[in-house]
Amino acid sequence: MVRIGLGRDLHRLAPGRRFLLAGVEIPCEKGELGHSDSDALAHALIDAVLGAAGIGDIGELFPDADPTYRGADSMLLLKTAFDRVKSGGWRVVNVDCVVTCETPKILPYREKIRAALAGALEADAGAIMVKGKTNEGMDAIGQGNAVEVLAVCLLERI
Ligand code: MG
Repeated sequence: MVRIGLGRDLHRLAPGRRFLLAGVEIPCEKGELGHSDSDALAHALIDAVLGAAGIGDIGELFPDADPTYRGADSMLLLKTAFDRVKSGGWRVVNVDCVVTCETPKILPYREKIRAALAGALEADAGAIMVKGKTNEGMDAIGQGNAVEVLAVCLLERI
């Protein structure tokens, strides 16, 4: 049996914050604003893997009102979420993600990001894809004030 999950996240961008995707820091004037380290790609993937397994969502597992998660390393949260998915008897078949932001460019960091996600999800980097897009200057994302991530994950029963 296979099951698919969809995750989405959006973070505002602000000066003085790190721009993180799957724990990979990308030099940028602005970074993601939020309670944890605000890694939008890790957050979208947490929802994708939990959704595919049918075992809840990020807000339930790691409430942002909980001081435990202030500045939390979201890749550790992804690993924790995936451990739960794995204990349910699932493995990752593949993952596909779209990161939308005006800057920075994602492509030069793609392989590092894929490797980081492959490590967290115990999958082959070849089964993980990440694409960067812009919003062509439209809306808050297009004006460089936010980053949005969409992620899908296919799981297979071990
Ligand atoms: Mg988030």
